[in-house]
Amino acid sequence: MEILEQMGAEGHEQVVMVSDAGSGLKAIIAIHDTTLGPSCGGTRIWPYKSEQEALWDALRLSRAMTYKAAAADLPLGGGKGVIIADSHTEKTEALVRAYGRFVDTLGGRYLTTTDVGSTGRDLEYIKQETDYVVGLPLSSGGSGDTSIMTGLGVYMGMKSCAKEAWGKESLTGKTVALQGFGKVATYTAHHLMKEDAKLVVTDVFDDALDRARDMGLTVVKPDDIYRVDCDIFAPCALGGVLNTETIPQLKCKVVAGGANNQLLSATDGEELHRLGIVYGPDYILNSGGIINAEAEIGRAYNSDRAREKTERIYETMDRVIAISKVEEITTGEAADRLAEDRLKSVRGIRKIYRSN
Ligand code: NAD
Repeated sequence: MEILEQMGAEGHEQVVMVSDAGSGLKAIIAIHDTTLGPSCGGTRIWPYKSEQEALWDALRLSRAMTYKAAAADLPLGGGKGVIIADSHTEKTEALVRAYGRFVDTLGGRYLTTTDVGSTGRDLEYIKQETDYVVGLPLSSGGSGDTSIMTGLGVYMGMKSCAKEAWGKESLTGKTVALQGFGKVATYTAHHLMKEDAKLVVTDVFDDALDRARDMGLTVVKPDDIYRVDCDIFAPCALGGVLNTETIPQLKCKVVAGGANNQLLSATDGEELHRLGIVYGPDYILNSGGIINAEAEIGRAYNSDRAREKTERIYETMDRVIAISKVEEITTGEAADRLAEDRLKSVRGIRKIYRSN
């Protein structure tokens, strides 16, 4: 498909191709929608095999950010930057700063933050070139590690799903199978342990498993996590893990985790729905990170405010479940409906003001 045709089909506003010969920077910044506010999304540094692949990722991820921000009730739109480079071998201060200068030329239409391959240190370099950066380390006056609030949000969303599945939000005594025991899963686990949930954990990284064992958690092999006899399955590692191969293995009543793009396809969401499994849509449950970053825009960061707003993920998930029941659609479709309704209503107000 032609680029402009592809942008038009999904409502993207702007795509910027960026090149800096001196530093070797090759990047794409995609702005999906600025109806609700400046577009915001992380910068992914990844050795894409082709420009087409990088462009496709930027378009897909920026659109997802629009939905995440809209459903989380944030004054932000969706955007994403991708730098075509290997973050382990090709990332340099010069490259990252060159990228920051291009972000600056967008005049605030795009605010960047971290994503796969980029770190708080990179944001500090970007900050030397532009003010349009959020999620800076606490030591640089920013909101710091996003995974703390992401973990809290996953926990709150899980409680809402539990209320739907068992009639009460309590997770005491529930068995939760965590796939991936990285940053988000660990913060989620802390909340679950305080509530006396039982945790079963897997990871492909030995250090993560050792950490889990030290915390007294049960550890299983990566392929066995789907078959664990549990109440809640929490994908906190990779995307695409809910598919025709894995769903038939699940023994849980709830799927609620922090990983992005958990459903391989929309039909997998329909299958969960058909099986009576309550699914907490990923972008609703993992929006704590962007909520936290937004709390530093235009004012001094305040963790209490960010926490309070992240806790509202519980009510947002309640609303998603209510829409799903009334409209007889999956929770994934209901989350999209919630986000789209907010976008439509704000676009409507803008039209009224313009015509006056
Ligand atoms: P992380 O890298 O700290 O943790 C991911 C863990 O998953 C790692 O320990 C890794 O070894 C493990 N893993 C990878 N492949 C696996 C497999 N096949 N089976 C089991 N474990 C596997 O990352 P994170 O920040 O905790 O993010 C986890 C997920 O949440 C990602 O999908 C990320 O995109 C999403 N997310 C994170 C944030 C945030 O604030 N960090 C916000 C929104 C979404």
